[in-house]
Amino acid sequence: MIHRERTRRVMVGDVAVGGGAPVAVQSMTSTYTHDVDATVAQIRKLAAAGCDLVRVTVPDKRDTEALPAILDQSPVPIIADVHYHFQRALEAVEAGVHKIRLNPGNIGDRQQVDRVIAACRERGLPIRVGVNEGSVVERIDKQRRAEQKAALAVNPQQELVRLMVEKLADYLHIFEENNFHDVVLSAKSIDATIVIEAYRAIAERFDLPLHLGLTHAGPPETGRIRSIAALGTLLAEGIGDTIRISYAADPVHEVEDAKELLHSLKLRERTEPELIACPTCGRIEVDLIRLVADVRQKLADEVKLPIKVAVMGCVVNGPGECEGADVAIFAGRGKGIIYVQGVQKQTVSEDRMLEALLQECRELAGRVERGEAKLGATDVAIAPSNPLPRADGSLPVPAGPKSNLHGRQT
Ligand code: SF4
Repeated sequence: MIHRERTRRVMVGDVAVGGGAPVAVQSMTSTYTHDVDATVAQIRKLAAAGCDLVRVTVPDKRDTEALPAILDQSPVPIIADVHYHFQRALEAVEAGVHKIRLNPGNIGDRQQVDRVIAACRERGLPIRVGVNEGSVVERIDKQRRAEQKAALAVNPQQELVRLMVEKLADYLHIFEENNFHDVVLSAKSIDATIVIEAYRAIAERFDLPLHLGLTHAGPPETGRIRSIAALGTLLAEGIGDTIRISYAADPVHEVEDAKELLHSLKLRERTEPELIACPTCGRIEVDLIRLVADVRQKLADEVKLPIKVAVMGCVVNGPGECEGADVAIFAGRGKGIIYVQGVQKQTVSEDRMLEALLQECRELAGRVERGEAKLGATDVAIAPSNPLPRADGSLPVPAGPKSNLHGRQT
């Protein structure tokens, strides 16, 4: 079990962040916020995928003017992302958003920041304060900038992390002077190792809830690894109260990957099907890759329970690898054997494997919903009496007294 760092708790609408609450999944719309229909449609899609909180950007007055209609139709709390214009923050608060994301450094005028803080306090709204790697080096004071650049040249990573933490501390003074404590912190970089070091340092120094994320991570193909490396490391160390994985892609992928990460670390209870599949190898005798893709899609569309389904290429290593699966199929030459909670149900031809497997999943899900069965109730204890032969007629199980039907030496 992961021991999570204890932070203060803030409420974002009805979603708790920090203080031991489950790690909340966030994403951000990519629509123009003033396009109410498109924005609401995307918020609903994200919420249906399991997103707990959605952020929308409000660069113009027409965006904040759209907020009441968006809030009326949103199934999840909405965060307004404000840059440069403090009036947008005040308008968003007035519209009824549930949190403001603000960078005091982008507003500049201290009195304007104070007014936003006062408005949030009046409504009981938290504010996320963040620094990005690209915005911590001094831009106005030339002497200070030169000193920072010189230090960065000597020890780039350590100095950058130090600057990020110090910049956050500077911002936090403003909130402390306003006696405002409902603050969530973030410190983003494109570099996973800087993100890890920065959040470790922040968690050490502050007791405020942390929003984890990388900035400009790129498309899922490259951003996924970078994001999971950083966020997975931090979450495994108990650091992080809400996460956003950001991709240059449909934001629904951000939610899917964030949820899978939390499931993998047992930080979030799974509510949808879990698919186990073998990577395939030279023993494969059916088109398993396509079967796995089809099963994944159909299960996501049709089954709303955390049923564990295993799709294995053969019986040699399959049984041991999918113990605990509720429904499992083991393929052989043009055929598959299906088990439901350890009981062999049927052997079907390759062209019927998808439908037969799904039918068993639907039937089990129905029995679970009626209270007649329980998921995860029985380990898959499979020792097929008739392992499917290979194309040459040989059995895929080593013969001899020292082997069992799983192909393992006894
Ligand atoms: S389950 Fe069978 S086909 Fe799949 S990787 Fe393992 S040995 Fe290969």
